[in-house]
Amino acid sequence: MFKNKILLLTTLAAVIVTTLGIKYINYLQERRQNMALTKYDDFAHSVKKNLADIIAQKQTSTMAIALSLASDRALNINQIDTKHYDTLLQKYKRDTLYQNIWIQIVDKQQHPLYKSWSQEKNVTNIFQTKDITEVFQHNKPISSVTINQYDLVLEAIAPIVKNNKIVGALEVMSHFNSIARKLKQSDIESAVLVKKEFSHKITKPFTNLFFDGYYVANKNASKELLAYLHQYGIKNYMQDNYKLENTKLIISYPLSDYHGNTYAYFIASKNLHSLAQLENEFFMFTTVVILGLLIILGIYLYLTNKEQKEYYKNIIDFSTNILLIKDKNQIVEANKKFFKYFKNYNSLEDFIQKNGSIDNFFVEEEGYLSKEMDGQTWLEYLIQQQEPQKVKMNIDGEEYYFSIAASKILDEEQNYSIILAAITDEEKYKKELEELTVTDPLTGIKNRRYFMNKLKDEVQRANRYHEKLSLVMFDIDHFKKVNDEHGHDVGDKVLKEYTKLISSKLREHDSFCRIGGEEFIIILPHVELSGALIVAEKLRKSIEKHKKVLPITMSFGVVEFKSEETFEHLFKRVDNALYEAKENGRNRVVAG
Ligand code: GH3
Ligand code: MG
Ligand code: MG
Repeated sequence: MFKNKILLLTTLAAVIVTTLGIKYINYLQERRQNMALTKYDDFAHSVKKNLADIIAQKQTSTMAIALSLASDRALNINQIDTKHYDTLLQKYKRDTLYQNIWIQIVDKQQHPLYKSWSQEKNVTNIFQTKDITEVFQHNKPISSVTINQYDLVLEAIAPIVKNNKIVGALEVMSHFNSIARKLKQSDIESAVLVKKEFSHKITKPFTNLFFDGYYVANKNASKELLAYLHQYGIKNYMQDNYKLENTKLIISYPLSDYHGNTYAYFIASKNLHSLAQLENEFFMFTTVVILGLLIILGIYLYLTNKEQKEYYKNIIDFSTNILLIKDKNQIVEANKKFFKYFKNYNSLEDFIQKNGSIDNFFVEEEGYLSKEMDGQTWLEYLIQQQEPQKVKMNIDGEEYYFSIAASKILDEEQNYSIILAAITDEEKYKKELEELTVTDPLTGIKNRRYFMNKLKDEVQRANRYHEKLSLVMFDIDHFKKVNDEHGHDVGDKVLKEYTKLISSKLREHDSFCRIGGEEFIIILPHVELSGALIVAEKLRKSIEKHKKVLPITMSFGVVEFKSEETFEHLFKRVDNALYEAKENGRNRVVAG
């Protein structure tokens, strides 16, 4: 049936790259079209991309396991060494992100020969007859998401070939628990929800969890997130999107099979204000990616002959990170991604000849990996670390930041795998994230969180240095009517238009914040009551005159800070002044 085995193996590799690559390419195209997205959307987008990468990573490694096991020379379909697989699964459980994988081997007639989760030999519907038929018919492995009677699983099926003939297939199934668990470490809550129409097909549910009629495919699903989704309607999150709500980022990522049918959504949420966790979350994704890749490198153990090495190479080439294999002296293997960064070298030989080692590119700086660490070489040091480290590199004039990890491939040999994942500059990232948590997404001005902190600071300062400080608080008049008569969208436009107008009238040191739906406040440092009243009256007039989108008016309360007053008290006073302005007929300024 086959000209030779290499042909098959090349096909296999090509298929993995194509199937797993499609999602990523789609994402890139989408991203290019959306270059005009706001910064917030960009942030949400990049987190979503990371989630997609993690899932793709798990799919890649599940496929890599299936391929390597299916092509193991020792695999004899007539006499399966069940102990071997049992030990193997235990090893995965101990050493990798795979806490729970299932393996099944079938013959050409699709009779199960081995099932890691049961002794039964009868044909059960757990086996994806349709998918395996596809594998046999088209001589190619399949990577997919599927539903069986127990669960929603990531599935990879590889053909078993002996003497150029397909004699059976090997299927590896993995779950979503490990991804969710890893995300949890960085304060990202997740729930994997199976669509209602598929939920009832899971008759022996692995997690035993159902929520509002949806099967929950991860045991560790967040109760808080589920409650939140329930409150705002789960249906709204069962679609490919992301939302920035309040200070919560919620991402829904579709889990689809080989043909593109969506069975479930991976829903992840992150409270943006948990800045204390920043360091952690910064490395979250790279850590997961790296752990995933270490699994692939573990598979290296099985690959002894040349052809197998060929498709192994294809798998590592597909990786979105730089992968290197190094022996005692030098790098012996580098994937395609390596040359994306080291673009002035056309081959590994070329690189070694000109430079020898990657540590020549390290930028020695506090907090980053250097050639020598605590009296050890960087590689020795790296192997002992539990977590990836940061490294800054200057590659032919360009600066890059990477997360880097390494491990020994075999204890007795001096072979190492090194993984580098590109990261953005931490300081920049930190600033952006901080900015995001204090900015109101609709209007782009500062939010209530910012206001509260800023007011505390300013009150402290005014007290210490006996400086003046004033507050101007204002609220749109009869805004409910705007929404009722023109719709919420027009209401939003009004909010945007008038905040833009007001911003243009303020000085740099004035803090303009949206503290409620249509409630604003300006902190005016070094300004006394009379000055603040002038500012307020000027704003009131310009608003009344503006008349863009819709003519509106606003009411103003103004107060000056009294020494030794608490910030709560000051805030209460300005709120009262505004209330009075409303009571006295609106569209006016009242001093409190
Ligand atoms: P007044 O302040 O003059 O007493 O009357 P009002 O109608 O403005 O009073 P109220 O504060 O009770 O209503 C505020 C309304 O603002 C309620 C809500 O419909 C609307 N609103 C709040 N946030 C938003 C928003 O983000 N977008 C839109 N379009 N409307 C909002
Ligand atoms: Mg109002
Ligand atoms: Mg109001």
